Amino acid sequence: MPFSTDSLYSGSFIVSHLLGEDTHNILVLRTMSHIPTTFSNFQSYYFETPLYEALTATVVQIKSFLWQPFAIDGYCPFCRRASTFYKPPGEIKPNYTDAYFLQMVEFHRQDLPCVRDQDNHVLRVHSMLSAGTLQKIGQYPSFADIAVDESKEYSKLLSKEDTAEFHKAVGLAAHGVGIGSYVYLRRIFERLIWKRFHEFKDAEKWDEAAFRTLRMKEKIELLKNHLPEFLVKNAKLYSILSLGVHELDEKDCLAFFPVLRQSTIWILEQDKKKQEELAQQKALEQAIAKFSPSSSELPMSLAGTTPEPPKK
Ligand SMILES: [Zn+2]
Repeated sequence: MPFSTDSLYSGSFIVSHLLGEDTHNILVLRTMSHIPTTFSNFQSYYFETPLYEALTATVVQIKSFLWQPFAIDGYCPFCRRASTFYKPPGEIKPNYTDAYFLQMVEFHRQDLPCVRDQDNHVLRVHSMLSAGTLQKIGQYPSFADIAVDESKEYSKLLSKEDTAEFHKAVGLAAHGVGIGSYVYLRRIFERLIWKRFHEFKDAEKWDEAAFRTLRMKEKIELLKNHLPEFLVKNAKLYSILSLGVHELDEKDCLAFFPVLRQSTIWILEQDKKKQEELAQQKALEQAIAKFSPSSSELPMSLAGTTPEPPKK
């Protein structure tokens, strides 16, 4: 299969290579089924919903979509930070019945300007309204570009390898490839566990063969003093990632992806912080251990702290 620039096709290419040919069929099924979920809110519609996700909407939601002006918060890829976008009012149709709106079939283009630069920072969204179902069918900048760009902001502290795979996970999820995105997050998770194991195995006298046979929960328990607290407390995250790869469907995977994405960032950032603290502590301890002054070399600040002999 050639690597295509088409997002879904390239997504399936990556997933097929990671998990085997069967995964391609899962992707094809997902793109063909479009079983509608319920519309929740506009924030989620514009900033979290992948293209072609069919959402059943109530008559109130359809009317809001068509003509109600509102402001929503989201990441602006032009500002490269969180911002507020404005949805302008549409044409009001006051004399039409609810049944009319629920049967309506129309295409819509909405331009949502960012409040920081209304002329140049514009999110363009194409939607299809079809008999009570709302579907986003086009977006510029693409949902994936926004999601990956946003994760770049979050992941400044991550290693090169983690960053690359983290962006792949975010990009796949943005294209509606939930299971594939879990594969990448799970790899990041496993890499962290193994990194810590190799760092401490000699000091802790751990046996690698025995470690391999442990379940992930037991591995985390063994390494708990060397892992970020958030990960140790939420070791269940790994089971969710594994469940996603083996049992959950695309929709379930995608629904929980934002939680896993944020958790991964926290874990990696906490880990980075912990490693930096440990390195600083080690450097200070070495400096203190090396310190053997003659009284003349003792700095004034330290000399002043020497207790004076008691006066009689
Ligand atoms: Zn902006």
